[in-house]
Amino acid sequence: MTDPQRFDLLILGGGMSYVGAIRAAQLGLRVGLVERDRLGGTCLNRGCIPSKALLETADLLHRVTEQGAELGLAGGADVALDYSALARRRDAVVEKHVKGVEFLMKKNGITVLRGNGELTGPTSLRISGGESGELEASATDLLLATGSAPKSLPGLEIDGERIITSDEALKLDTAPARVTIVGAGAIGVEWASLYRDFGAEVNLVEFLDRVVPLEDPDVSKELARVFKKRGINIFTASTIDPATIERADGGLHFAVKANAGDRVTEVTSDLILVAVGRKPLTEGIGLEKIPGLELERGYVKVDGFMRTGVPHLYAMGDIVPGFALAHVASHEAVVAVETIAGHHPEPVRMELMPRVTFCRPQIASVGVTEEEARAAGHEVKVGSFPFRALGKATIIGEIDGFAKLVADAQTGILLGAHLIGPHAGDILPEPTFALLVEGTAAEIAMSVHAHPTLPEVLVEAALAVDGAAIHV
Ligand SMILES: Cc1cc2nc3c(=O)[nH]c(=O)nc-3n(C[C@H](O)[C@H](O)[C@H](O)COP(=O)(O)OP(=O)(O)OC[C@H]3O[C@@H](n4cnc5c(N)ncnc54)[C@H](O)[C@@H]3O)c2cc1C
Repeated sequence: MTDPQRFDLLILGGGMSYVGAIRAAQLGLRVGLVERDRLGGTCLNRGCIPSKALLETADLLHRVTEQGAELGLAGGADVALDYSALARRRDAVVEKHVKGVEFLMKKNGITVLRGNGELTGPTSLRISGGESGELEASATDLLLATGSAPKSLPGLEIDGERIITSDEALKLDTAPARVTIVGAGAIGVEWASLYRDFGAEVNLVEFLDRVVPLEDPDVSKELARVFKKRGINIFTASTIDPATIERADGGLHFAVKANAGDRVTEVTSDLILVAVGRKPLTEGIGLEKIPGLELERGYVKVDGFMRTGVPHLYAMGDIVPGFALAHVASHEAVVAVETIAGHHPEPVRMELMPRVTFCRPQIASVGVTEEEARAAGHEVKVGSFPFRALGKATIIGEIDGFAKLVADAQTGILLGAHLIGPHAGDILPEPTFALLVEGTAAEIAMSVHAHPTLPEVLVEAALAVDGAAIHV
């Protein structure tokens, strides 16, 4: 054992917590960051960044090959995907950003301790099995940030070859010709969209009765409509029967069964990509040694300042309840370290967190759905506007989808925004800000939007809340 290391703040897990590490250093804390793998965690190495690098090419390919002729580009149909070049770019994009995080750690004087960390107490750790050797470290405060890993289902054990998760899919140097995706949540529909643009035969199997089941039902309906138009085979309220899986025709043969009734579809795919959610990584890190630490379905319980209830022990990111998203994790990291440093940040408010799913058409939402608002006791007014009626959408040739705003009927205060359509994620910051400042639909309509732009869809949807949309 080397000498114990003493810090103001120790962080276990170097994913999105790196943002909090930098903020803590800015506030004058001496920070030790423990990571057993590459810095940047899931988002940088196995999540947001590599998957969006692939989706960018998928989108370009679609625009050139399928829309090129209409847009006046000859020869687009002959453009072909070079997946090995794309894989090199995907890896280069990741590499650039991992190096960037490493640089920022050095620049801010943050000590990176390389190895597997395990709590020996609420604010102390044993680190082993990595470049930093065997050591004990302790601090005044400790932030747990160990993230999450993909889940699977009984009978669909991940073999890393034919039955895979997003972790393995992001390492492949080829695209499958036939793929079945299990789970139509955010990750599942992104892969379905991507592989379809790359020319694969895609089956999307969802246990619940609609795709993207956490989104507004109107959004689910529109996505299903467009995905079907794109040739994606959707099986909702269905599962793969694991007992039927057998190797055949160079791939896997199996039955997709409806939850009710006797509909059975025989399917052959090169790959089954399991995207049924993620589990928090809270086992094997010594949590059982911390009296008073509360877990709920494996997640560490925290308050709005990321305090666990055990003095000086904080938690953030995918191991705490709430949306498992990178920007949520980094926001939580900042709130945690500002609290630790004795500042008085606003608490994290999960209802203000924006969500974007990067399939085509893109999905973006913030706040509550119409149903959730009613269930919470609001009388609501709703306004929707289709992209099809917007000049900019016609110009770029992407007319599917709509914006839907949910407002309180009495006050007009915005309660939620639900978009599906071109660049929906880039339009979302405006309703996200409106929710923060308790803005009304009328104020969104009042704010003049430049023409022709996609955010004009919000003005029309806001006018539609009072039945006054112009271009319908
Ligand atoms: C395919 C995919 C696509 C995604 N796309 C998006 C997206 O577009 N937008 C978005 O907002 N979110 C996206 N996400 C979610 C996002 O990646 C996560 O919400 C985010 O990475 C969570 O950050 P975190 O810091 O909590 O955990 P992680 O990023 O998982 O980091 C945890 C870190 O802790 C380390 N660690 C764990 N245990 C130990 C230990 N005992 N000792 C030392 N180190 C340890 C791990 O190695 C890891 O580096 C995506 C996820 C996936 C899987």
